[in-house]
Amino acid sequence: MSNFYGMKEEDIREYARLIVRTGVNAQPGQEIVINCPVEYYEFGRLLVEEAYEAGAGEVIMRWNDTYDNRQFFLHASEEAIDTVASWRAESYNYYSRRGAGYISVAGADPEAYKGVDPDRMQRREAVMERAVKEHYHLMMASEIPWTVAAVPQKKWAARVFPELSEEEGMARLWKMILKAVRIGEGDAVKAWEEHDRMLKEKCRMLNEYAFEKLHYQNRIGTDFTVGLVKNHIWEGGSETAGTGVVFEANMPTEEIFTMPDCRVAEGTLVSALPLSYRGNLIRDFSLTFHEGQVVDYHAGEGYEALRSLIESDEGSRRLGEVAIVPYSSPISRMNTLFYNTLFDENASCHFALGRCYPTTVAGGASLSDGELKAAGGNLSVNHVDFMVGTADLSITGIREDGEEILIFENGDWVR
Ligand code: ZN
Ligand code: ZN
Repeated sequence: MSNFYGMKEEDIREYARLIVRTGVNAQPGQEIVINCPVEYYEFGRLLVEEAYEAGAGEVIMRWNDTYDNRQFFLHASEEAIDTVASWRAESYNYYSRRGAGYISVAGADPEAYKGVDPDRMQRREAVMERAVKEHYHLMMASEIPWTVAAVPQKKWAARVFPELSEEEGMARLWKMILKAVRIGEGDAVKAWEEHDRMLKEKCRMLNEYAFEKLHYQNRIGTDFTVGLVKNHIWEGGSETAGTGVVFEANMPTEEIFTMPDCRVAEGTLVSALPLSYRGNLIRDFSLTFHEGQVVDYHAGEGYEALRSLIESDEGSRRLGEVAIVPYSSPISRMNTLFYNTLFDENASCHFALGRCYPTTVAGGASLSDGELKAAGGNLSVNHVDFMVGTADLSITGIREDGEEILIFENGDWVR
């Protein structure tokens, strides 16, 4: 193993094992699909070994490559952009139907798609989403177990640590990733269990309050009220798949989140961190809402990418996720902009434009799209997180009878 930049071999292996066991929680005989960028092939192979070690019936490795994908977006014919071959769609739908578990290895160059026509990417995503609808639905409803974890990539490391050499940057990013997923400080599986208990406790508290609205305020200009759907559920940490298997969809994870009422949002949200969207960076942006819809928006950089996101479809102008993360979370304390949603969203309170998570409303997993929409849930081809949490953020919960309870102050839980 040469590709791990001085990290301890046993720590890297433990990480792979944690992804397989605590992340997707592979079961004997189960099919495990791994999406792994080609440049991480050594880590990908460790995942394969660990998945078979856990008893997987078959491990299906899908190597992918942002270089190849970029060439496709730049040069493929219009017909190719708008067409998904049935065998390609079926290669997702087939395994999902059979209850496969999915591991995705993240960490690509945040600017891999800079300069690519965002409308071509948008069209491709929409046609892909329709083709693999069955797979997508099972995943979004957490019927099948899935997990996303990150491995450093050279261009990503260079972006995060432009002042360091390639070697130093990769080593530093590896260290931070391992720390964020609680490797190297004793029993990682146990540490995850404890962390999971804490997240579940916050969910229990907010579920009891059953707020109608949340009001956000800070000094960079956020003054924003969002409605929550009736019978919303705060979720965080582990989830339970249709088969009863407990899995962690994101590694790391520090957030608890629920379903906003996509018809109720008033005021302005100001970004606290840049957003890396389809390989483009959007900086210093703000979104102003009225009656749940974005009615005005600005960006210091990346306005076109923001426009393309917001104008993708009706649901991209509305919210699908509200998430709370303390400013004191371990990733936040690293005080590093990762240019990667998996890390940045766990460093900061955030919202998502686009599709809601059906599981964040009571009985939501069995609702049709129409029923979900009637309940205030948002539908869209997109689900894009953006960060609003600052060190001075406060959040006040408003109950149906008008009672106001301060739950978050100076970027952290009040209790
Ligand atoms: Zn989130
Ligand atoms: Zn999200």
